[in-house]
Amino acid sequence: MTNTSTRSADGRDADELDIAPETGWNALFLDGEWVPAGDRDLIDVENPATRTTVTTVPSATEDDVDEAYAIAEDAQSAWGQRPPQERAAIVSDACALLGEYADDLEWLFAVECGGVQLKADFETQLAQGTMEVGAGLAMRDGGRRKDSVTPGKENLLVREPAGVVGVITPWNFPLYLTSRVVAPAIALGNSVVLKPDEHTPLMGGLVLARVFEEAGLPDGVLNVVPGYGHEIGDHFSGHSVPSVMSFTGSSEVGRGVGQRAVGAYTEPALELGGNNAHVVLPDADLERAIDAGAFGSFTHQGQECISINRHVVHESLYDEYVAGLADRAAQLHIGDPREEGTLVGPVINESQRDKIVGFLEESVANGATVEAGGGHDGLFIEPTVLSGVTSDMPVACNEHFGPVAPVIPFETDEEAIEIVNDTEYGLSGSVHSTDVARARDVADAMETGMVHINDQPLNDEPHVAFGGVGASGLGRYNDEWIMDTLTTLKWISIQREPREYPY
Ligand code: NAD
Repeated sequence: MTNTSTRSADGRDADELDIAPETGWNALFLDGEWVPAGDRDLIDVENPATRTTVTTVPSATEDDVDEAYAIAEDAQSAWGQRPPQERAAIVSDACALLGEYADDLEWLFAVECGGVQLKADFETQLAQGTMEVGAGLAMRDGGRRKDSVTPGKENLLVREPAGVVGVITPWNFPLYLTSRVVAPAIALGNSVVLKPDEHTPLMGGLVLARVFEEAGLPDGVLNVVPGYGHEIGDHFSGHSVPSVMSFTGSSEVGRGVGQRAVGAYTEPALELGGNNAHVVLPDADLERAIDAGAFGSFTHQGQECISINRHVVHESLYDEYVAGLADRAAQLHIGDPREEGTLVGPVINESQRDKIVGFLEESVANGATVEAGGGHDGLFIEPTVLSGVTSDMPVACNEHFGPVAPVIPFETDEEAIEIVNDTEYGLSGSVHSTDVARARDVADAMETGMVHINDQPLNDEPHVAFGGVGASGLGRYNDEWIMDTLTTLKWISIQREPREYPY
């Protein structure tokens, strides 16, 4: 399944990359210092394609979390008082550095995340976009003036930094999903403690620490504690210091994070899982729908919260759609992400693979038919198309998070909507029709935070509100919506003339 012609020479050492800190990556980033692992346990960062160790990082302890929050708390007020243009400039400089280190990042995307070049380019663009928009927030909307119902009173709404922001992120789009919180948080005068996922501590955390350090961010404003979620996650999310707890990850873990955060009077911002549907109405342009369906299902091995999880296709187009999608799936080159032309790399780890393969096998045992793919080798899973799928099959009713495309038939638009909404998730989705008004009616009825007509669900633009409903999360990311989460509005009123009180 893999071949040996590599796009860039292997054997590079993560500690010798231009972007690496002088100490190497085996460190925490606390108060502007790279703190060596010392006697802490270590986390092995594994290349999912070759199963070799890329580097090791310390496994942060609860004491490290306490220290990081204390440092962030100390640093926040001075940082929040810096002029907004200074905060914006540092975020912009960090963004530019991502471009300067593009080669290193592309390599890390491949060896740490299993991401092919297409995905590396896509994610770098998204990360830079969110940092540019985030930098701009520093200069936006400092507050408002509101008329008062009391004579002689002036009402001011003053926007202040929220304070310390705790950030927990996943492994699938680590650089982007971390930047989309860290950049606006810093630009708006907050300090941050970040716990990246244990599979991607570099791209999800230490890389950002490096570029912000180089951009001149004052010590203590960004602190990174790589660590296992099951070891330090509860302590991290239930901590008394942060004012905001930003979590991106699974709905199951997110629910607990949200509960612990609220228990500590911390505002949760939760971006969780999805079970996104790609609906193809009978009057759709079939080729467009298939192209979109393939891209939305197989990009980054289907490991995005907004990947297509289910294809919901009108019975009149069903056979042709399945055949077209199977044809596209069979043509995708699978292999090491560093091989020229690879479009499908490995999934991140064994437990993800076993989960995906388990859903697949159980669905086939329940009557689904494999139309393309179906096999796996190591962490590589073939792009797979399944026909004869019903909503209750494991591959359809769970977020499978793999390169798997279950296709479910329907008869009427109402039935399609019922199938789409038959899930606790509500993140993204798509509808194909040559009648935009009809597609719009279906889009309106889909219980999701985002729907894309004549496209596929995998869309994210750094200036457009992003988020879900139901088990897919609470709140919205990007631009002014994340600004509301990362700031506090304080009402200050000025009584300019004596007020008459009733006694
Ligand atoms: P996960 O929930 O297992 O892990 C995410 C993060 O949570 C990691 O950093 C992990 O270490 C940490 N964690 C684990 N246990 C914890 C605990 N008890 N307390 C605090 N933190 C803990 O998710 P995953 O498998 O890494 O990521 C995939 C999931 O993320 C999918 O469900 C996907 O849909 C979702 N996701 C959502 C979005 C979005 O924007 N809505 C984006 C990307 C991924």
